[in-house]
Amino acid sequence: MSAMRLFVEADLSAGIEAALGEAQAHYLRHVMRRGDGAALLLFNGRDGEWQARLSLRGKKAAVAQVDRRTREQIAEPDVWLCFAPVKRARIDYIAEKATELGVAVLQPMITQHTHVERVNIERLRANAVEAAEQTERLSVPEVRQSVDLVRLLATWPAGRRLLMCDETGGGPPIGEALAGLDEAARRAPWAIAIGPEGGFAESELALLHRMKDVMAVGLGPRILRADTAALAALACWQSIIGDWRTPTPKLPSDYRTSRDVV
Ligand code: SAM
Repeated sequence: MSAMRLFVEADLSAGIEAALGEAQAHYLRHVMRRGDGAALLLFNGRDGEWQARLSLRGKKAAVAQVDRRTREQIAEPDVWLCFAPVKRARIDYIAEKATELGVAVLQPMITQHTHVERVNIERLRANAVEAAEQTERLSVPEVRQSVDLVRLLATWPAGRRLLMCDETGGGPPIGEALAGLDEAARRAPWAIAIGPEGGFAESELALLHRMKDVMAVGLGPRILRADTAALAALACWQSIIGDWRTPTPKLPSDYRTSRDVV
């Protein structure tokens, strides 16, 4: 039976007991029907990944007895996705897929044409945690509260480059733009901005184009849905300047066996 992979908040080191949340304990005990000693793989975004064993406590609770590290923590690309929220099913999809694609921060961005009023951040975060567990990431993206586009740009962090997807033809093809970057630009922190179903308003396009470290790009001749555009842009970014350029890291030879613990 393969090890269940879980994100925990606790610090991880050999020999400690890591607390599991109530929902995690319920899921392990009653959904996945795991018992005492069941194999776990834990990660917290700081200490790498650790092999652990489930230890049931009473009728509901459970903790993890942490044994040994299976993977060192690695630096991950510093790329934000600033996206205008779309309707529920597709915003969950963006959170899940952007997590698999290695995003560091999910920043919902309210624009003039954004139809969605409230964004359920807790649900987005739950989608991101589940996707991080599945995709074998060693971290979970930070999911931030929604912010108005104008305020976001007014408080934009110095030095963070902004890749703005402009469907009105305001920039060169994304591949050409990213491939032409110098090393300093490649190593900089980045963000990708994607507009809403109704596109950026004229005044927003003007504001974005005036940003200091902005790079406006096109995503081809077709108009992509906001969720498609977000993931396409992120995939291009990862493949040209992100961590898709490095070969898939070799996992320790016993990694698989430590996962498929019988
Ligand atoms: N204004 C159109 C509309 O009303 O449907 C397009 C909006 S599009 C669905 C949402 C966002 O995806 C755009 O604001 C842009 O950020 C991005 N996008 C979609 N297609 C694109 C393209 N071909 N080039 C650049 N960005 C694109």
